[in-house]
Formats: sequence, C-alpha cells, structure tokens
Amino acid sequence: SAAIQRAESLIVSIPDHPQPGVTFRDVMPLIADAGALRAVVEEMLRPFAGQYDVIAGVEARGFVLGGVAAGLAGKGMLPIRKEGKLPRPAGREEYALEYGTAAVEIQADVPAGTRILLIDDVLATGGTLAASVALTRSLGLEPVGITTLMELDALGGRSKLGDIPVHTVFHE
Ligand code: 5GP
Repeated sequence: SAAIQRAESLIVSIPDHPQPGVTFRDVMPLIADAGALRAVVEEMLRPFAGQYDVIAGVEARGFVLGGVAAGLAGKGMLPIRKEGKLPRPAGREEYALEYGTAAVEIQADVPAGTRILLIDDVLATGGTLAASVALTRSLGLEPVGITTLMELDALGGRSKLGDIPVHTVFHE
C-alpha cells in the first residue's frame, strides 16, 4: 500500500554505527510518523490474527512497537528485558554477542500455556529473538510467531529461529 511504501522511505541507513563497518537502520523517523507507524504495526499483526493471547516486545524498540501492537489488537504486553532490569525475573536466557554474552529476562506475569506473539524492530543475526523464544518456552508459554519490522537477510538470522513462523514487513 502507499502507507507501507511511505513507511519504508522513512527508515534511514546510518553508516558506521554503532561501530565502523556496520550500517544501522534507524527506524525512529518511521515510529515518529502516525500513519506509517499504524500501517506497519497493522501489517506486522495481520498474519497472526486470532493466534495469540499476549504480545511480547523485546527491549527497547520492541517495547514501542509491541505497545502499539497490543493497543491495536486489544491484547496485553509482556516485556522481554535485558538482564538486571526486572524486579521479579522468573526466567533468564543467555545468548552470544560478537564478543561475550548477553541475557534476556522475563517475568511470570501471564499463565503457562499463554500464546505469545514476539515483536522486535530488526531481525539481524537472530540471537536476540532465538533467546527470547527459548525464554518464553522456559516458562511454559507458547510462542506462536515472530513479527519484525525489518529483516537483514544477509545475516541469516531466520535460520536460528527453528520452525516458528516469522513474518517481516521490510527486507534488506
Ligand atoms: P540480533 O540479535 O538479531 O543480531 O539483533 C537484533 C537486536 O539488535 C534487535 O533487538 C534490534 O533492535 C537490534 N539491531 C540490530 N541491528 C539493528 C539495526 O540495524 N537497526 C536497529 N534499529 N536495530 C538493530
């Protein structure tokens, strides 16, 4: 649609951020635009209609998109946070970074068996979302899908995500 095409034009490529040689996709101008934001979040949700109970957004831009998505869909929002931020973490999952490791945490604020749609802005190497899927499963939650605004195809992140359905609005 025209709104989706306009949304794509609002994503800005920033060379050498956060490190030399890396091109960072800055989605904040898209998020700042009411029409673009609504159009992309509706498109992120579309294939999963009726399949999930709660949206889990991955820190930090996944909180923004996940909050909007939860509002549009009439669902609750479960934050998946970088470690050390939550007051009552019930699960923790480590993942590899280029140098060292990081971890994501979640609270047990929804019952086991709850169907979860995971949301983040960018699927890059897939490490963050793979850990997030494992984290939800470790609490007995049921991840039913992953939806992202953008996927960096050359990094092959999708291959780390097993057979869970992955939907993405923009490929690069
Ligand atoms: P991955 O674990 O897939 O390598 O990295 C994904 C995480 O890093 C996501 O939470 C995403 O927000 C962030 N990320 C990686 N590359 C980019 C990028 O180019 N642009 C934005 N906005 N986020 C990125």
